[in-house]
Amino acid sequence: MQPLYEGKAKRLYATEDPNVLRMEYKDDATAFNALKKAQFENKGRMNKAITLLIYKMLEAKGVTTHLVGDIDDINLTVKKVSILPLEVIVRNIAAGSFSKRMGVAEGTKFTKPIVEFSYKDDALGDPFINDDYARELGAGSEEDCEYLRQQAKIVNEVLIDFFKQVGLTLVDFKIEFGRLAEDPTKIVLADEISPDTCRLWDIETGAKMDKDRFRQDLGNVMEAYEEVLKRLQENS
Ligand code: UDP
Repeated sequence: MQPLYEGKAKRLYATEDPNVLRMEYKDDATAFNALKKAQFENKGRMNKAITLLIYKMLEAKGVTTHLVGDIDDINLTVKKVSILPLEVIVRNIAAGSFSKRMGVAEGTKFTKPIVEFSYKDDALGDPFINDDYARELGAGSEEDCEYLRQQAKIVNEVLIDFFKQVGLTLVDFKIEFGRLAEDPTKIVLADEISPDTCRLWDIETGAKMDKDRFRQDLGNVMEAYEEVLKRLQENS
């Protein structure tokens, strides 16, 4: 079966329901705008399982997501959406591109979370934008941006607590949103939430438990993902 769409980490397939797609999680890993590539056995399985746990928990807390159901090790069913071309990034602690751009030491805690937007465009390198850019680029209206910011803050509060319960600090993360095919007036949380899209530091040791292990060649990448999954499963 041919996918309708293939991204860097997932493939999307049609189902018999025109408003529902099958999302397959791949073992491919990319970093630095796909300049660095690798394959990790079981990454798809772990990211699927972690996303499923997190989405179920977020739904229980009142956050609407595109999740429909679980199929198998690497596949979920999700509502068909049109993804807004915005990456919504929430930061609790300085790291990654924030530290690099702003010259702020990694690990510096913010007084309040930072919410920022990037324009999803690989050719442009996903540049940093604000609400005015989003409006003029047709990426999202002012109301849409306000809604995304508000949802992102709620997701952050829920996730901080969720990860804290399993001994992990949520440093930052990226989420995406989509308009439902069946009702484009509704915007829901879509895409994945996993160690590929979050920075997670072990509270006791400070160890990085996320894709920075791949970005920075720290080794034991899948061991860290497995540990995150194990802790979340034991706590659920
Ligand atoms: N992130 C992501 N996809 C991207 C860019 C960022 O999932 O295309 C996540 C990243 O894993 C981190 C957070 O968003 O948890 C903030 O990333 P940052 O802007 O610091 O960029 P990076 O250091 O990854 O280039």
